[in-house]
Amino acid sequence: MAKVQTSCPRCKSPVAADVEQVFDLNQDPQAKQRLLSGQVNVIHCPNCGYDGMVGTPVIYHDPEKELLLTFFPSEMGLPLNEQERMIGPLINQVVNRLPLEKRKAYILRPQSMLTFQTMIEKILEGDGISRQMIDDQQKRLALLQRLLSIPTAESRLEVIKQEEALIDENFFSMFARLMEATMAQGDERSARALAAVQQELVENTEVGKKIQDQSREAQEVIKTLQEASKDGLTREKLVDIFIDSADSEVRLTTLVSLIRTGLDYTFFQLLTDKINTFEGEKKAKLEAMREKLLGYVKEIDDQRQVQMQQTRKLLDAILTSPNPGEATKEHIEELDEYFMQLVDQELKNARAAADLNRIGRLQKITAVIEEASAPPPEIAFIEQLLELESYDERMKLMQSKAEMVTPEFTQMLSGLIAQTEAQNQPDELVNKLKEINRIALRITMMSAMKK
Ligand SMILES: [Zn+2]
Repeated sequence: MAKVQTSCPRCKSPVAADVEQVFDLNQDPQAKQRLLSGQVNVIHCPNCGYDGMVGTPVIYHDPEKELLLTFFPSEMGLPLNEQERMIGPLINQVVNRLPLEKRKAYILRPQSMLTFQTMIEKILEGDGISRQMIDDQQKRLALLQRLLSIPTAESRLEVIKQEEALIDENFFSMFARLMEATMAQGDERSARALAAVQQELVENTEVGKKIQDQSREAQEVIKTLQEASKDGLTREKLVDIFIDSADSEVRLTTLVSLIRTGLDYTFFQLLTDKINTFEGEKKAKLEAMREKLLGYVKEIDDQRQVQMQQTRKLLDAILTSPNPGEATKEHIEELDEYFMQLVDQELKNARAAADLNRIGRLQKITAVIEEASAPPPEIAFIEQLLELESYDERMKLMQSKAEMVTPEFTQMLSGLIAQTEAQNQPDELVNKLKEINRIALRITMMSAMKK
């Protein structure tokens, strides 16, 4: 991303903006999410307060969907040949990064979009999301805002009855996301207000009642599973739980999502043996269930596969970028445990192949990740103190590193003690932390007296 000097669309005063012009999924699988989020190429004008998009050409490339889209903002007021002069190099950049065998006909005919909005719609259309669906979603959003603005439960109920057609599963998941976001912001009052409205929706709509039943069923099966796990969850027990859950799609999918790893070859063999002890209708029903289970398992595995492919793409993009360390920093939010596993694996492969260049690049990535995930120095110090055996040893180390014993340190320590107690961790650990705390207080007092 480049910082460029541009001008505010409203007051024309100069503003520096982060501008991203090329959204190439071939290079960066996350680019699509970024573009769709609407958080790209926005400026905040310090002069007039304008908050919005800055006019800039944008290229979008999705090789899998064979989409190459260009957008040139009309407010830039440039003649067509000027536009082409600006867009041309960006398109070349996209094409050059694509391996020869993947350069298909679509690459020669970029589709130019008249507005940014049509570009977004075209991308969504590629995902099977139509204009109609977007309109419906906007209607749901409007209804949600309307409901939240009505002060009394009685009037809300009236609106809920009138608009029940709009209140579908989508509506509920939209509501759930809003609640999550509110909680994440720590806004408890709004979250409670939202929860009350959600309860009204659940009780007074058909879809709401259905969702409630489903979540009750899911809770029940989770409880069954927890009970069974108390003294070791065997495959035999698992088979019985599945057989008892055969009638409920919700129970089956909940179970599979929780214990995919338990559903291995041995499990299915045991299940088949058990099914064969039944006859007639019951047997047929259980056989149908086994087919369903195999389908769910495949679905989960396929999803995992797609995730792995995206992770690999991201790693390739980082490795081929001019500065892998910087590129890792840019993507640090997206890196998950799969990414680490893949980097470890690739590092092993590169060492086996004595590919020094690749080893160096991979090590730059791990260095950035390690730095980002390193604990704060206070925590590292507490860990070091916990490893010591006695009060005296701890006292000695803390006196020799008195500069570490800061107000932040004691604050963090009190937080840790409260947290460990709340989590019912072993008394030994809590006691050690309390001891460290006592020493810390003594050292703080001693140094205060010396002053
Ligand atoms: Zn302005």
